[in-house]
Amino acid sequence: KGKRAFIAGVADDNGYGWAIAKSLAAAGAEILVGTWVPALNIFESSLRRGKFDESRKLQDGSLMEIAKVYPLDAVYDSPEDVPEDVKANKRYAGATNWTVQEVAESVKKDFGTIDILVHSLANGPEVSKLLSETSRKGYLAALSASSYSYISLLKHFLPIMNPDGSAISLTYIASERIIPGYGGGMSSAKAALESDTRVLAFEAGRKKRIRVNTISAGPLGSRAAKAIGFIDMMIDYSFTNAPLQKELHAEEVGNTAAFLSSPLASAITGAVIYVDNGLNAMGVGV
Ligand code: NAD
Repeated sequence: KGKRAFIAGVADDNGYGWAIAKSLAAAGAEILVGTWVPALNIFESSLRRGKFDESRKLQDGSLMEIAKVYPLDAVYDSPEDVPEDVKANKRYAGATNWTVQEVAESVKKDFGTIDILVHSLANGPEVSKLLSETSRKGYLAALSASSYSYISLLKHFLPIMNPDGSAISLTYIASERIIPGYGGGMSSAKAALESDTRVLAFEAGRKKRIRVNTISAGPLGSRAAKAIGFIDMMIDYSFTNAPLQKELHAEEVGNTAAFLSSPLASAITGAVIYVDNGLNAMGVGV
């Protein structure tokens, strides 16, 4: 019987979320995605108009099917949390039921259960500021969008996850090593995400034998990464200094997510798995 995956954080065909969706689809999973509300219209119309058809192609020549796209803003847990100005915002007005709780309820209503939960989203409004110059508001916003959003997703989806399921998030080595330029509390948000991965692995493991892991991915020129501003430099740095001097493909992260969600990884939980051409293992640049 095929598995069903919900992937939060897909709004185009460039990021890790899209690549993970493809690898899971290639392995036979049914794909549901959660798309940030302000990006929903463009994503859905591009899908409809065939703009992604080339990148929907799987190894066997078939096209990845997305069974349903759910609007999602993972910064809000339930309708009571949504401020008036957001409700009134033009970019939110057309969509409904996009808080985490409501999305989980909709998925339950539409499909019953899922087996795989993927968190592939992050946001830090002050990412271009030094940590020491970050405001309280900016820091808490980075943690809300990039770390707590994962706790909230797991909390609301756990009741509809089948036993032996898998939850995966994406992290970055700036959590444990100094990466100047990854500011605004984003380094702190990733440190929280990695620590939470261990605690959530314990809790979800004991409750439902669900495995919780995070992939520490190398640099990729996604939309989110381009917004940070230093991604080309990080890609060059990795190419020069990593043990494997090759481009890092989003597909390599996607395939790791598929492995981690499969029975092949049945004893792996609470882990940070590096998919970065080995850059994390270097002590100096060469
Ligand atoms: P991406 O732009 O493809 O994905 C980020 C997504 O988050 C976007 O689709 C955006 O719409 C969504 N998003 C932002 N705020 C949201 C919210 N409040 N609610 C719902 N969705 C929201 O970029 P990506 O680089 O593939 O990022 C995916 C994950 O990979 C992130 O956790 C990122 O930190 C991580 N990561 C990226 C890199 C890299 O170099 N690109 C490296 C390591 C880890």
